[in-house]
Amino acid sequence: MPGDAAKGLQFKEPPIFERGAPGRSGASLSALDVPPVDLDAALPNLQRAKPAALPEVSEPEAIRHFVRLSQWNFSIDTQFYPLGSCTMKHNPKVNEWAARLDGFANLHPLTPPHLAQGALEVMVRLQALLAEIVGMDDVSLQPAAGAQGELTGLMMIRAYHQSMGRSPRKILIPDSAHGTNAASCTLNGFEAVPFASGPQGIVEPETLARALEAASGDVAGLMMTNPNTIGLYESAMPKLTQLVHEKGGQVYGDGANMNAVLGRARPGDVGVDVMQYNLHKTFTTPHGGGGPGSGPVAFKRHLQPFQPSPVVRRLENQFIIDADRPESVGRVRSFLGNFGMMVRAYTYIRELGADGLRSVSDLAVLNANYVAAALRGVLPLAFETPMLHEAVFTDRALEAKTGVKTLDVAKRLIDYGYHPPTVYFPLVVRGALMVEPTETETKQTIDSFVEALKAIVKEAEDSPDLVKGAPHLTRLGRLDEARAARKPRLRWSPVPSAASEIE
Ligand SMILES: *Cc1c(COP(=O)(O)O)cnc(C)c1O
Repeated sequence: MPGDAAKGLQFKEPPIFERGAPGRSGASLSALDVPPVDLDAALPNLQRAKPAALPEVSEPEAIRHFVRLSQWNFSIDTQFYPLGSCTMKHNPKVNEWAARLDGFANLHPLTPPHLAQGALEVMVRLQALLAEIVGMDDVSLQPAAGAQGELTGLMMIRAYHQSMGRSPRKILIPDSAHGTNAASCTLNGFEAVPFASGPQGIVEPETLARALEAASGDVAGLMMTNPNTIGLYESAMPKLTQLVHEKGGQVYGDGANMNAVLGRARPGDVGVDVMQYNLHKTFTTPHGGGGPGSGPVAFKRHLQPFQPSPVVRRLENQFIIDADRPESVGRVRSFLGNFGMMVRAYTYIRELGADGLRSVSDLAVLNANYVAAALRGVLPLAFETPMLHEAVFTDRALEAKTGVKTLDVAKRLIDYGYHPPTVYFPLVVRGALMVEPTETETKQTIDSFVEALKAIVKEAEDSPDLVKGAPHLTRLGRLDEARAARKPRLRWSPVPSAASEIE
């Protein structure tokens, strides 16, 4: 194809080690004006046998290399990122300003509490706000991610049972749950017992009642995601939590998806005992690319003694770090958690206030329903139940008609300049394509995205191979995803070899 050679050359970007020339440098050091030190005498046996193989490049070479690499990144600051269940909303820049304030950003984690009162006060205030938003009594900010919050909450449930001389083993989980739920159970020594959600995509009390009977007296608890990962509201929650409590179980709420219910529904009011938040989803702290997360756990009073230690709290006019917690499950994170994330979330909540938070979820729900309505007749929804924060489509009809699958549609969206939605999750939906637009997108952006999807569906009908071979306009074509996941080359080595592949 004409232009291919140019594309190949334009996108050629050797690693920094393969650039430059011996002796080239971006630094200029002034001449030595003190007596030289004999390193062999000063540091016997500590010197390298040969110099480290560092790249020798000029400053412009280094700058261009890294700036170019940064421009190949897909990010929420450059494009629409409708990755379902991940809540990739805009990260307000005022949060960044706050987190970078000198007194926060440069505070050493070992600063004694009396010199860190401001930071501790932010934490105590955030704990109170987060408790109020979901109708709980208290919050621990320690866990570093949603999954670690789940783990922590389940540890607290186990400690609670043990404090009463019981050690039930089974945690019931509906089949629509996020994969981390089962993993958190297993890590905790619990047995994850799946049960089916109903034909409307939500859990029916009769099914749960049967599952509870089958678990015969060994029920530690129930793990529920609400709204669930299909974006549907679990409307039977009060009944579900009642059934579990009657059997002596505790109810864990996976709170990753609070974006849909802020200011509208509180898990604590419908019987949830402990839950995690994902500050990096709901409260606009940046995520993606493996950055730091924050997964605070919120809980009812009866679980308070078991929360992670140390506890940051107010004692008269002081903010203290209380490590005298004999019944605690212990520390789950070094120091007090990812503090920068806490400052960002606190800033966001204070910036919006109660009304603002309510309109966040109203608009998030409106946008998801708008996507669903705009694609009616183009891609079928997985469930016709009115949805909350995300719209889940299935490729059933498209594949039957054209042979084009969800993965192909997702890859072709990249050519149109969009991050693919979440695909093939949740597993209960065939060929799922899960779109979570979030509240921060404009109608124009969503309309353009819908136009792109419509164009792709048309392409699938007219020239399916074009879609099946996508992406075409990116630096790299379609990757071997299994190999990329299982045998990634994560570091440079002079000769690519099996040894350089981290397995
Ligand atoms: C994102 C998510 C999680 C896991 O959160 P991490 O911060 O990625 O560990 C758990 N449950 C649900 C429903 C999620 O969407």
